Amino acid sequence: MIDYEGLRTLHHLLRQKSDFEDQLARCPRIIQIARAKSEQLDKAVETSKANWQKCQKDADGKQMTLRQREQRIEQMRVRRNACDSNKEFQILSEQIDADLKANSVLEDEILELLDRSERLHQESHESREVAANGKLNFEQVKQETEARARELTAKIAALVAEIRQHEKLFPGDFLDAFRRRAESNGPDALAETDGHSCGSCHSLLTTQILSELRQSKAVACKSCGAIMYMIEKTVLEN
Ligand SMILES: [Zn+2]
Repeated sequence: MIDYEGLRTLHHLLRQKSDFEDQLARCPRIIQIARAKSEQLDKAVETSKANWQKCQKDADGKQMTLRQREQRIEQMRVRRNACDSNKEFQILSEQIDADLKANSVLEDEILELLDRSERLHQESHESREVAANGKLNFEQVKQETEARARELTAKIAALVAEIRQHEKLFPGDFLDAFRRRAESNGPDALAETDGHSCGSCHSLLTTQILSELRQSKAVACKSCGAIMYMIEKTVLEN
């Protein structure tokens, strides 16, 4: 005779334990995802900063070219004032005009770059704020998840103790079979039946099996091997 009510309680405990174990197994992944997200935001800060610096450097380079050309224009003007040949005057005037035009284009480019640089600088600031928040979020997720993991570990330990306590109700050979199955199948080691089919794999019960269940014997499902139990109250309700 097996205490089917006891088996049902055990089944419930095994399911709870399995549920907590699944939740515990997900904890490292939750932390890993939050960490990866934070690292990604840190990388975005670096990229944003590099973009800004590159733009600023381009603007600086063009400004230097602009100043050098302005100096050259000044020098050519001095030479033009001092020159006494018409041809040289003409050549210098053309060069000065060409440089002035080139500088005018350059000035537009510099303004555009400075404008862009300002935007990139702003973006860089913003990305740093986002990354700082991402880091805080990661720390929070980590703390909460670690606390949850500790809580789950304690709950699982308590359930294991409770399961051990309940197992004492069962005879030794039955207990060994149960433990072996629980080890490899978790909650599927047990299956409640409504008197028609196995609660785990839904195979129909034979008359023989049903008769054994009615006598509260230790019965395993022929299909999935689960140790079955039947609660008369459930059967009557069906
Ligand atoms: Zn079954």
